[in-house]
Amino acid sequence: MLDFLRRYSREQLDSRRMDERRGFQLSLIPDLANAGLLGLQIPERYQGRELSHSDTVKVMRQAGAIDCNLLILLAVHNTLGVPPIQHFAGEDVRSAVLPELAQGRRLVTSAVSEQSMGSHVRAITSRATKQSDGSYILNGDKQWISLGADANFINVFARLTDENGQDAGITGFLVDTASPGFVRGPEVVTLGLKAVPQNSLSLDNLRVPAESLLGEEGSGPLVAKTAFTRGRLVLATGALGAAMRALELAQRFARRREVATGNLAENGRIQQIIAESVAAVQAVETLIEHIADLLDSGRQVPEPFYFAVKILGCELMWQVVDRCLQLLGARGFVDTNVVGQFYRDYRLFRIFEGSTEAITVYLGSTILKHPQQFFSIFDDFDVDPKLAEHVSRIDKLTTTTTTGGQQRHILASQIGELACWAIMSVLTADGRNRSAMYSHTASWSEQQLVDKLRIAEDSRPFVELPTVEELARHIGEFELTIGNVEQRRPGTQHDLDLLLRRG
Ligand SMILES: Cc1cc2nc3c(=O)[nH]c(=O)nc-3n(C[C@H](O)[C@H](O)[C@H](O)COP(=O)(O)OP(=O)(O)OC[C@H]3O[C@@H](n4cnc5c(N)ncnc54)[C@H](O)[C@@H]3O)c2cc1C
Repeated sequence: MLDFLRRYSREQLDSRRMDERRGFQLSLIPDLANAGLLGLQIPERYQGRELSHSDTVKVMRQAGAIDCNLLILLAVHNTLGVPPIQHFAGEDVRSAVLPELAQGRRLVTSAVSEQSMGSHVRAITSRATKQSDGSYILNGDKQWISLGADANFINVFARLTDENGQDAGITGFLVDTASPGFVRGPEVVTLGLKAVPQNSLSLDNLRVPAESLLGEEGSGPLVAKTAFTRGRLVLATGALGAAMRALELAQRFARRREVATGNLAENGRIQQIIAESVAAVQAVETLIEHIADLLDSGRQVPEPFYFAVKILGCELMWQVVDRCLQLLGARGFVDTNVVGQFYRDYRLFRIFEGSTEAITVYLGSTILKHPQQFFSIFDDFDVDPKLAEHVSRIDKLTTTTTTGGQQRHILASQIGELACWAIMSVLTADGRNRSAMYSHTASWSEQQLVDKLRIAEDSRPFVELPTVEELARHIGEFELTIGNVEQRRPGTQHDLDLLLRRG
C-alpha cells in the first residue's frame, strides 16, 4: 500500500488540479478501492485488509505526506465511518454493508455537527422517534459533513425519544442516503481541503429500520467516541506525514540557499528552528507509535493519550508546516510549492474532531476532578526523578484556588496543556538512549514542559480580565475606526432558475 501510494503520487495524483477545481479526480476512488485502501481495518471475512493499528498509522502518515484531501477521504471513510458499523451494528448489517465499503463500491461518513453545536456533542438537537413497529423516524439538520453529498451511508447521531415519549439519550443510526427524507444541502466553500466536499444535510421524516441502530439506544456518545478517539490518532498521523514532507522541502532549500550570513542551513537560528521542528516530529511520532502499539496489543489506551496526540500532534505539526513555509521565504508563499497548500489544508486539524481549546479545557477539567486517576497513568513508566518532580508540580497546580467559572476554564486549560506535555516528556524520555537525535528530542520535550510549568506558576494569582461586556464594547467601537465594510454585492447564483424548475 505504501508503494502504491508513492507511485500513485508520482504518476497519477494531481493535487493542484483537485485543489483548484474543488473536487477529487475521477479515478481516485476506484484506484484507492482497488489498492485496498478503503477497507483498511475491515476484517478479511468482510473483504477488507484487516490491518493492524501500527500498519494503518503507516498508511495514514504516507497519505498525509502526499495530500490532505487524500488523507481525509481515507480517514473519514476508514476511521469515522467504518468503526461504528464494524463494532456496533448487528451481524446482518455488517455482512451486508462492510464488503461494499471495503471494496469501495460505497462510501461512508459520520454526521454529528449541527448549526448550533460542533464541539458540544451532548447538545445535539436532531431527533429520532421510536415507532411502535421498532423503526425510527429521524428529523433534523446536520452541518459541515465531509463527503456529505457523496457518501452512500452516514452514521447519524440524534437525540432519541422512546415509544413512551421519554428522552432515551443520544443514539447512533446507520442511514442509507438513498432513503426518502434524506436531503442534501449546499456545499460550503472552505479555506483549504478543497477537494473534500462539506455539506449540510437534512433528515426530513426519514425512517430507518430497527437494525440501523448503532449500539444500544442512548449509547451514541460511546459509539461516537470510538470513532473520534481513533480519528484523533489518525489526524495527528496525517499531520505528521505533512510535517515530514514540509521539513524535507525546507531542508533541501536551506542547504542550497545563500543568505547574508552564509549558507541558510548553517545559520544558528535556522539550525535551531529545524532542530526544534525535527524534535517535534519525533516526539509526535513516538506518541502515535505508542498508542498504536497499545491498541495492537489489546491494552487499554489511557484517554488522556488520545487528547495529547490530537492536541500536540495537530498543533505542533501545523506549527512545523508554518515554520517551513517561513523558511522557504517567497517560495513558501508560492502556491505550487506544496507547503502553502499544506498550510491551508492542515489548519483545519486544530479545529475539527475537537478543537484544541475545547478538548484542552475538557482534559484539564477531568484531571481537576480526579487528579490521581490522571497521575496514575505514569505508574506504567520508569519516570526519572527530575521528570517526576515536574509532574508533581502539575499536581500541585491542580490545587490552585479559583474564583468564578472563567478562572476555572483558564486553570483547566493550563492543566490540560501541561498534562499533554507531561505525557510527551515521559514517553520521549523512555527512548532517550536510542540515538543522539532522540536524546535531543527528549530534552526538547522536557524543556517545553518546564517552560509551560513556569508560565503557569508565574500566572498565579490570575490577572483579572476585562469583563465580557467591556471586551464587547471595546471591540464594537472598532467600527468607528474601520467603518462598516460588509460586502453586499449579490453572490453567484448557483440554483436552477425558478422558471426552469419542476412545478
Ligand atoms: C472542513 C470541515 C469538515 C468537517 N467534517 C465534519 C464531519 O464529517 N462530520 C461532523 O460531524 N462534523 C464535521 N465538521 C464539524 C467540526 O467537527 C466542527 O466544526 C468542530 O467540532 C468545531 O465545532 P464548531 O464549528 O461548532 O465550533 P464551536 O463549538 O462553536 O467552537 C468554536 C471555537 O470555540 C472554542 N471552544 C469551543 N468549545 C470550547 C470549550 N469547551 N472551551 C474552550 N473553548 C472552546 C474553540 O476555539 C472552537 O474552535 C467539519 C468541519 C469542517 C470545517
